[in-house]
Amino acid sequence: MTPEEFRANGHLLVDWIARYLDEVGDYPVLSQVQPGDIRAKLPASPPSSPEPFTAVLDDIDGVIMPGITHWQSPNFFAYFPANRSPVSILGELLSAGLGVQGMSWATSPSATELETHVLDWMVELLDLPAVFVGNGVIQDSASSATLCAILAARDRARAAGASIETLVGYASSQAHSSIEKGLRIAGIPVDRFRKVDIDDAFAMRPEALAAAIAADRANGLVPFFVCAAAGATSTLAFDPVPEIAAVTKDASADFGGIWLHVDAAMSGIAALCSEFRWVNKGVEHADSYCTNAHKWMGVSFDCTLFYVADRLPLLDALSILPPFLRTAQTGSVIDYRDWQVPLGRRFRALKLWFVLRCDGVDAIAAMVRDHVAWTSELSAAMAGDDRFEIVAPVALSLLVFRLRAGDDATAALLSAVKASGRADLTQTIVDGRLAVRVSIGSRLTERRHVQALWELLQELAG
Ligand code: PLP
Repeated sequence: MTPEEFRANGHLLVDWIARYLDEVGDYPVLSQVQPGDIRAKLPASPPSSPEPFTAVLDDIDGVIMPGITHWQSPNFFAYFPANRSPVSILGELLSAGLGVQGMSWATSPSATELETHVLDWMVELLDLPAVFVGNGVIQDSASSATLCAILAARDRARAAGASIETLVGYASSQAHSSIEKGLRIAGIPVDRFRKVDIDDAFAMRPEALAAAIAADRANGLVPFFVCAAAGATSTLAFDPVPEIAAVTKDASADFGGIWLHVDAAMSGIAALCSEFRWVNKGVEHADSYCTNAHKWMGVSFDCTLFYVADRLPLLDALSILPPFLRTAQTGSVIDYRDWQVPLGRRFRALKLWFVLRCDGVDAIAAMVRDHVAWTSELSAAMAGDDRFEIVAPVALSLLVFRLRAGDDATAALLSAVKASGRADLTQTIVDGRLAVRVSIGSRLTERRHVQALWELLQELAG
């Protein structure tokens, strides 16, 4: 592709994306294809000669689009959101255009320094503890952030004399599966992961944590890592971080202490609104913290903000310096390759910077407030219909319900919503029974879309 062709095709593609974002609300939200349908439309062998870009664009429309689930749709209420504002797409494009591989400060000083700087801005905007200033890094996902926290905690414990076979990790029974996965990757066997008991609001019970830690220590094991959820995935339960921190500090007598990680993947961004700062209550006691700018903030996936109170354990766990990576500045600057699992890294800070500058924090905070208000409105409407039962406290923008008629009826309602193409929702299990999550978080959602969802649910509830 010549520079001229690149310019022309680039314009075509930007026009295509702009039209898509205009029309995304008109598509069936959940892709309706069957497994194998998309591959069946692709040629068995790769092209033998170059094709025009317009031919590829045609196939985007004809082959690829039917297999797209429209995460940016205003009617997307499934999982948690993965928003991307238009300016963040431009940030992504520039990152690709510059093609920087920012593994070390020297491999592109701007990539490192902008990243540290915007992460410091986020400390201020989210009112996070001052110890996080200068100690932030962008990870691809919350799962990677948690893994890095576990690796730092594991190596701190090992350095203090614990053997890996004795290490035990803890999270509530509601914690995201990425905690268990991170422990597994770090070599902590499944039977050394304790799923701590929860209270009526699905939050970790600190007494249960204390009891589990005491029992493990009595058995000669070494508690080394606790993850507290600030907004667990199933029900958006908030573990009581200050009380959990009191337990971990109390029990932190040996082997470097117990590492406390706070996983605020979805909810942490709510702290952009001063009235929702409670989401990060107690985070000043944490050794590490993460929240996903790629969920509620509109920064395109992937952009997890990960902070540590002390960078040394993380660097001890992840730094390796072969001669070919040494630079004149090694040791005197941040080399972000030592803060993550892979070596290479994209210039992700650009899209966060673009969003903060061009979308602006006030607009993002206003969107968050709207989502929370509409969730309350939906919850009030649902509470007035006897067929529906709200099964968890409604925190922020997640509503979890089931039909009183039972699991089969709830499953049928969920299937009918998905098949309708008019909205998408996800299921979970609460107290051993099926429940449906309504996550109101798409940046294109307006009140009318939430009202339409409620009409749809009433219509299909039978
Ligand atoms: N933690 C929580 C509380 C989540 O809700 C999620 C995903 O929704 C994750 C972790 C994993 O996020 P990621 O996809 O960024 O790894």
